[in-house]
Amino acid sequence: MFVDIHCHLDAVKNASEKIALAEKENVSLIVSNSVDIKSMEKNISLSKRFPIVKVALGIHPSEALSMNEKEIEKAFSFMEKNLKKAIAVGETGLDFKHAVTEKRRELQRELFKRHISLALEFNKPVIVHSRNARKECINILSEMNAEKVLLHWFLGSKKLLFEAIENDWLYSIGPSVFENPAVQKFALLSPLKNMALETDSPVLFNGKPAEPQWIPRIAKKIAKLKKTPLKKVETVTTNNAFRLLGLQQKG
Ligand SMILES: [Zn+2]
Repeated sequence: MFVDIHCHLDAVKNASEKIALAEKENVSLIVSNSVDIKSMEKNISLSKRFPIVKVALGIHPSEALSMNEKEIEKAFSFMEKNLKKAIAVGETGLDFKHAVTEKRRELQRELFKRHISLALEFNKPVIVHSRNARKECINILSEMNAEKVLLHWFLGSKKLLFEAIENDWLYSIGPSVFENPAVQKFALLSPLKNMALETDSPVLFNGKPAEPQWIPRIAKKIAKLKKTPLKKVETVTTNNAFRLLGLQQKG
């Protein structure tokens, strides 16, 4: 069985249909990440309807840029109230592609640290977005002694990859592995021991929204690149995800 460790089911059209299709493809756990209050509410209600859906609560670093102080505080108190029911804190992190000015970057840093503090307080993993800010994300996580970490859509240098492995964090690989040579190279270099699989659904690939049912295809591609059996990719990435999320596997 497979796990989609990072997607956004609240934003997926016909989510119930897509969840059923994923189950047919042997995807037995989907972690739906949130970006703001509305998406947190939607994800919680999806998780109540579908047992294979687990929720991560957080404010996306790009989303935060268009929120005012009151909205941000409201989102944090919502998180505090509901984190017990969630499986992780996310999606949080830094996005220096969207935050260009120092003021905006400082806001993202401050919110990222608050997310990490919450994750530590509630003993939950933190799911991290690190576009154009990989090194800084890793530095903040290390400084705060975050232990349970997923670096989502990670494409780091050898040095950063080594740091992630040293800390026993996970990194996830998504559909970009189908075509992006840099991601393929990363998949080849990075050990399975710390790898998880994601789709980031419904992000667009070649004009098509990603779906959780793509996970086995992503695993197949990684198996081919690494010249290793598909079953191994499946077992190791699934075990990694369950371990990070503190879940027991059935059967
Ligand atoms: Zn995402």
